[in-house]
Amino acid sequence: MHTKFLNLLKSIINHFPKKHIYYISLGLIILISLLVLSELNLEVPKEGIKELSEKPLEVLRNEVPQEEILPVYKETNIKKNDSLFSILKRAGVKESNIFQIINSENSKLLTKIKINKTIKLSLSQDNEVIALDYVKDFKSGVEVKRKGEAYIINEYLHKTEKFKVFKEVIINDSLYLDGLRQGLPDSVIMDLVYIFGWDIDFVHDIRPGDSYSLIYEEVFVDGEKVLNGDILIAEFSNLNRNHIAIRYQLDSGASEYFSPQGRNVKKAFLRSPVKFSYISSKYNLKRRHPILHKIKAHTGVDYAAQKGTPVRATGEGIIVHASMKGGYGNLIEIKHTEDYSTRYAHLEKFHPGIKIGKRVKQADIVGYVGKTGTATGYHLHYEFRVNMKHTNPLTVKFPNANPIKPSEKNKYEFFSRNILSELRNYQNLSH
Ligand SMILES: [Zn+2]
Repeated sequence: MHTKFLNLLKSIINHFPKKHIYYISLGLIILISLLVLSELNLEVPKEGIKELSEKPLEVLRNEVPQEEILPVYKETNIKKNDSLFSILKRAGVKESNIFQIINSENSKLLTKIKINKTIKLSLSQDNEVIALDYVKDFKSGVEVKRKGEAYIINEYLHKTEKFKVFKEVIINDSLYLDGLRQGLPDSVIMDLVYIFGWDIDFVHDIRPGDSYSLIYEEVFVDGEKVLNGDILIAEFSNLNRNHIAIRYQLDSGASEYFSPQGRNVKKAFLRSPVKFSYISSKYNLKRRHPILHKIKAHTGVDYAAQKGTPVRATGEGIIVHASMKGGYGNLIEIKHTEDYSTRYAHLEKFHPGIKIGKRVKQADIVGYVGKTGTATGYHLHYEFRVNMKHTNPLTVKFPNANPIKPSEKNKYEFFSRNILSELRNYQNLSH
């Protein structure tokens, strides 16, 4: 039977042309695969739906969109008597979690946190610490990271890069405004004012056409500017006089500014008893202030300033007068040496603790600008006396602070010659 059937089949197949057999088998293969695939396709969604519906509700709740489980960032300034414990407690961290950090290796790195520094926290939704950063300064700090049940605590130090920047400013409106226009940062302008504050009275001395140029540093961490660094050298051309200040690190480690000849820019007296920053924004060379004093035979210089502007002692000395005195109004007189004394008049009030016999240091605040006595507007009347005689505070010569020591003189000369020629090169290139 079987052989008969097979023979029949053979003869049928042989009867068909070979092409047909090929098509038939191809069709069969496609049909079978379609059936298999459709069966698979149908099964997959069925299973998926089943699985989801079987999940407990809690699990579904945990699959909420990602933004809801992002950490919470907090930043806090370290205050007096703060400890890591008190800061974390204030941020709402549970005590058990705080102790996990305190009990981790290296946690002693966080025992001496300093006042006014910053602690950055990243907390989980339930207020557990994920990471903590104690920022010591722009380049260093201590980092805490969670790893399982413990915390990894390490000190870090970013690599910093310094770049030199040269600027040249010709003064038209004001030292400050023209500097800003040239792209000088506010902090660098204020450093410049500080450096030349013993030589130049920035209120009375500056004329349109005066100029200054400087090289200062910009500090970068990971390609990002973090700080305007120090002025390395600055030149101020004022009333046809040139002042040059060079930053130099002494053998002692301290950095100070010196003239190319090695004289310290610091002197026994500041040129101005009013800090430049209090008048800088309002002061414009093209809008001169009216005369504000009413003292007969004007014997000093006047600084127009807002009521309450701090007035500072231009030099170290002892208060010998602090009360009303006729047209001067509230007057402070400071005796600096046997020969030198200064007077500050029309004050609104005296600084707390300022009284006869009190010793003050240079730049200490002694009072506040007012218009007591015979004054027509808020201003400070300032006098400089040498041997009891009035002397023009704007032109009087002051003794210098410590110059470069003879033992450091050679090294300084080499250094100052180099930085000065660098400044000259920049100046020539910009002209
Ligand atoms: Zn005056």
